[in-house]
Amino acid sequence: VLPVEAYRRRHEITVTGDEVPPPLTSFEDTGFPSEILREVHNAGFSAPTPIQAQSWPVALQSRDIVAIAKTGSGKTLGYLIPGFMHLKRCRNDAQLGPTVLVLSPTRELATQIQDEAVKFGKSSRISCTCLYGGAPKGPQLKELDRGADIVVATPGRLNDILEMRRISLSQVSYLVLDEADRMLDMGFEPQIRKIVKEVPARRQTLMYTATWPKEVRKIAADLLVNPVQVNIGNVD
Ligand code: ADP
Ligand code: MG
Repeated sequence: VLPVEAYRRRHEITVTGDEVPPPLTSFEDTGFPSEILREVHNAGFSAPTPIQAQSWPVALQSRDIVAIAKTGSGKTLGYLIPGFMHLKRCRNDAQLGPTVLVLSPTRELATQIQDEAVKFGKSSRISCTCLYGGAPKGPQLKELDRGADIVVATPGRLNDILEMRRISLSQVSYLVLDEADRMLDMGFEPQIRKIVKEVPARRQTLMYTATWPKEVRKIAADLLVNPVQVNIGNVD
């Protein structure tokens, strides 16, 4: 058996799509710049998790991706580090609006993603701000006005701020829908669709979900273009 097949079988990785690149099974294989490798090393990580190993090379090809994997599998860095690489290639003036947009279902998850982005992106001088409900808009708007390369947001609050015309999504070229199944369960589909209408069609879109029911398939079919699908384990 080829090493690629052995690795995929051992970690229950299944892939669907055209010419899916082999997994990057060690950090040294990723080609990530030294400042990012240093952060990964400082965090004490010894190897990419299976979802990282298989989704990084796909994301680094600027392709759309649907990743289906359960929680705790390392999905956050699965999309954040390729997002950092995307920013290196095409960072816009943060004052015009974010280049990377991450949608997340809850305040708690959104702030965790921001923490991870700050921790791993600091040495690359990447700025990140977070927008979520259940807190006053004022401080969030003030931070937004300072400019951010990455915005992490819950769909409800981002939609409110869009309606106030206090953010432009016209510079977004890397869009992540994290925990897509949970966002749909929470009734965020209309807000997600309104938000995506404000994002240019020429973009890379990454969707992460723990389950793969037909509502998620439908929104994936509407928002992603010829995605590579990566499944880890027996999630369906
Ligand atoms: P998920 O989004 O799939 O639920 P997270 O991205 O929140 O998972 O990651 C879960 C935990 O694993 C976090 O504490 C994260 O820092 C850690 N982690 C991420 N990548 C690695 C890795 N390659 N090796 C070890 N731990 C990792
Ligand atoms: Mg997560």
